[in-house]
Amino acid sequence: MNVKFLGAARTVTGSCFMLEAAGARFAVDCGMHQGNAEIERRNLGASVYDPPNVKFFLITHAHIDHSGLLPRMVKKGFRGKIYTTSATRDLLEIMLLDSAHIQEMEAEWQSRREQRHGGKRSDPLYTVRDAQAVMPLIETVPYGAVIEPTPGVTASFQDAGHILGAAFIELWVKENGGVRTKYVFSGDLGRPDQLLMKDPATISQADYLFMESTYGDRDHKDQSQSREELAEAIAYSQASGEKIIIPAFAVERTQEVLYILHQMSKAGQLPAGMPIYLDSPLAIRATQIFRKHPEFMDPETNAMIAKGEDPLGVPNLRFTESTEDSRRINESQGSAIVISASGMCNAGRIKHHLRHNLWRKGASIVFVGYQGEGTPGRKIVDGAKKIKLFGEDVAIEARIFTIGGFSAHAGQSQILAWMTHFKNPNLKVFLVHGENAAQQTLAALIRERFGFAVYVPEYLETCVLKAGVEPAVTVDRELAAPSIDWSYLLTDAEAKLALLKDRLAKVKTKPWTAQTDLRDRLLEIDKELMELVSEI
Ligand SMILES: [Zn+2]
Ligand SMILES: [Zn+2]
Repeated sequence: MNVKFLGAARTVTGSCFMLEAAGARFAVDCGMHQGNAEIERRNLGASVYDPPNVKFFLITHAHIDHSGLLPRMVKKGFRGKIYTTSATRDLLEIMLLDSAHIQEMEAEWQSRREQRHGGKRSDPLYTVRDAQAVMPLIETVPYGAVIEPTPGVTASFQDAGHILGAAFIELWVKENGGVRTKYVFSGDLGRPDQLLMKDPATISQADYLFMESTYGDRDHKDQSQSREELAEAIAYSQASGEKIIIPAFAVERTQEVLYILHQMSKAGQLPAGMPIYLDSPLAIRATQIFRKHPEFMDPETNAMIAKGEDPLGVPNLRFTESTEDSRRINESQGSAIVISASGMCNAGRIKHHLRHNLWRKGASIVFVGYQGEGTPGRKIVDGAKKIKLFGEDVAIEARIFTIGGFSAHAGQSQILAWMTHFKNPNLKVFLVHGENAAQQTLAALIRERFGFAVYVPEYLETCVLKAGVEPAVTVDRELAAPSIDWSYLLTDAEAKLALLKDRLAKVKTKPWTAQTDLRDRLLEIDKELMELVSEI
């Protein structure tokens, strides 16, 4: 089998493994690339996916970093089947439509900006119509069932214990005269004892394992400590009448936060009467889908439901669907808890809540999920003093809490514990879905503890996998990470400054007010340069 890493290779987002086996071309996951502008440009490059020639997709779960490019594939000619679980299908329907809506709005905003400068309209990555066109292609598969999407290739979805409907995938391929090779794609692996989900299933047999490594270099704090920290944040902001802002992924994390708040309320840990806003139409809809699929949740949650208890219900919980209602939260006085998306603060209503609250002493921003490199959330967590929101610098005076205990991902020791079930000493492990430090740490631990061969593939790397043979690797570095011509950029900037110096005499002939305008613009550039240098 050939595998090409089209994303989540030395990064966390854009999961997609394009496979060629048994005469077919197909893929596991089709995630959106999220991060800085250069990383997000990867979303536009449909040619490496070659959508018309993909026979089918197997989708591990509904998170956008695993599914968000499906509408783009359809837009660019994909007409095959998409296999996934029923809960993932339901979540995909709302998540892809929401994502398409965001794409359309961003393109519209970008177009207006471009057109003001005499430029042309920009096209959305995909539209709501493209997202709708994904749905009829989906075929649902129950956990444990074996499907044969193309002759010689069979697959099975197993509970990954990560989010509602999430799976890891077992894949068997008959090649080279009938020898069956087994591949396992972990997708995102959940944490045992997660709040609403079952523990991840385990398996013992595989020849190749594609393993996520998001938390490869650390363990999570425990859950009860996280609950205490959340209580501390609430008490801190309540004391000064400020708000507690919780950026949360609309799916799973939001429902887990609701569940924790439900428990805190039962334990008398929530201030009486404090309003709690769920300010994300997507999260509101996702919460309804959770209610529809208790069979995907763990026995404890089902026992609560059987007793007539609503695990996602909290007193004073208000759903704010409309933008007016959302805006009203920021006009309201007094302490309140606001749960909003996106989880990494790069889109959606959360950006407005940050703009209104980040600069306020006494407010709290509570991060309950992973913050990807290059995202505004990551910058705040890493201690930035200010951040740009809607083109404006906003000072960070609120107290920042980073609560790791509610993670839907396995931490380092939980990943290793899950891997102890693999019994084949010749297992080859590809670490994906992680940043460099996490991957290097985890790779060393796996080699030391299990003696498995570990590879850390690069973006656009192709591997030829053959039983008993070392994987042959090729990578087009210039395509994967085009080199940056620093010396050209610097010479060019210097040349422009020299031009300005040459024209100084002319500048001085201008009226004084015109000169002050030019001076201010130069000061602005000077300040930008200073900031750029100080970041290095
Ligand atoms: Zn995920
Ligand atoms: Zn993921």
